[in-house]
Amino acid sequence: MRVAVIGLGAIGAQVLWQLSRVNEVEVDGFDKEYPGHPSAGVGGESRLFWNLEMAEPAYVPLIERAAVAWRELEASSGQSLRDPTGVLIYGGEQDVQMQCALNSAKALEVPVDPLEASALRRRFPHFAFDDHAFGLWDRDGAVIRPERTVEVTVELARRNGAIVHEFNPVTALDVTGSMLSVLSLSGKQKFDRVVMCCGGWTSKLVPHIQDEVVTRRLTSLWFNARQDDFIDLPPFLRTAPQYCYGIPSHDRRSIKLGLGFNDHYATGDADTLPRQLEGAELEAELNKFEWIREGMLPWLSRRPYRVETYVESYTRSMLEYIRPHIENPNVIIVTGFSGHGFRVSPAIGEIVCQLVVDGKTSLDIGFMERANPVFSILDPKHGTTTHNSVMASGPSRA
Ligand SMILES: Cc1cc2nc3c(=O)[nH]c(=O)nc-3n(C[C@H](O)[C@H](O)[C@H](O)COP(=O)(O)OP(=O)(O)OC[C@H]3O[C@@H](n4cnc5c(N)ncnc54)[C@H](O)[C@@H]3O)c2cc1C
Repeated sequence: MRVAVIGLGAIGAQVLWQLSRVNEVEVDGFDKEYPGHPSAGVGGESRLFWNLEMAEPAYVPLIERAAVAWRELEASSGQSLRDPTGVLIYGGEQDVQMQCALNSAKALEVPVDPLEASALRRRFPHFAFDDHAFGLWDRDGAVIRPERTVEVTVELARRNGAIVHEFNPVTALDVTGSMLSVLSLSGKQKFDRVVMCCGGWTSKLVPHIQDEVVTRRLTSLWFNARQDDFIDLPPFLRTAPQYCYGIPSHDRRSIKLGLGFNDHYATGDADTLPRQLEGAELEAELNKFEWIREGMLPWLSRRPYRVETYVESYTRSMLEYIRPHIENPNVIIVTGFSGHGFRVSPAIGEIVCQLVVDGKTSLDIGFMERANPVFSILDPKHGTTTHNSVMASGPSRA
């Protein structure tokens, strides 16, 4: 069986590797740039790996499988792809996301320390926690090295015989014949199966998903501390009253901050959105982060020393879109990772490989399609949506 994997980012790399391990499969991977490049959803040196689930209980087995699959990937490559730092998840004690996270910790039997406000303050004095704060210290949480992970995984696939087409955008996909036709700089090639893993670009080749999936530009800001040269802070994810996350740099001299869905830039076209922020647009973007600097981490420098933008795809349910093409089931569309795809990516690689080879998966993923939407798409062409109802927005203080 000849299979094409289009897009070798966080997900495509894992799919390519898993398929390269199957004897009866010959697999080709295409990327418009190169595996591990920083212009899509992968850059910025770090991604959080956390073991808890804050919204969908049916997601828990996927996280459990991902934890094992990460270890297998690291063992196969002989490389350490995650730093075992632990991760702090925190929000309000009444917050449904925190209750869901606590339940998932029990179901997964992962080592987690529940922390009330006073314990949070003692343990993490660098945060300004309010009296209702409640946290979960995920001891097995980690910081993923995203670029390295993609690069290493694609190299594993290459060693197994996968053919990797770098700097080779796929410009057309013809799904009408019995063989699928993929047009790229390598010419027109025929495949039995195609897996579409183009992240925020996926709808350009399969436009029908635009009713379900939107593209967003995400901004990451890197701050130094105003005085100290060393940042004694854990990687964290804050759920409520307003979503944000922070990941200290590997040398702990600075911290990278990011916001949630409602603060991202909406677009219907991943190629035309402005990637280099300047002037009023930069200022507006910086203002969105002010509440963190003012109320939560008051010791940060006034301005970030580095600003980068990335691209990610979001489904209306914030759960992955893993479905066959509406016109041809031999094309599997794998996108919409909604800001949390990296942590489960090795497990997604396994699932998609099973779909390609066996037509079914050992883990139930049907809940992804059945899940209720948390926002509506108003205009697919421009990617405009209503606000995401589970991620509170607007200025708030920690
Ligand atoms: C700033 C930021 C922070 C994040 N933080 C976390 C986190 O802490 N933890 C976590 O688990 N997840 C996190 N995520 C989410 C995670 O990074 C994404 O879910 C993941 O990268 C999505 O993988 P993907 O393969 O769908 O898309 P991508 O990783 O974007 O890969 C898509 C690939 O397709 C290629 N491509 C596109 N069009 C074509 C074409 N026509 N032909 C060939 N190739 C093409 C692109 O070049 C790219 O390499 C974050 C995402 C961002 C942007």
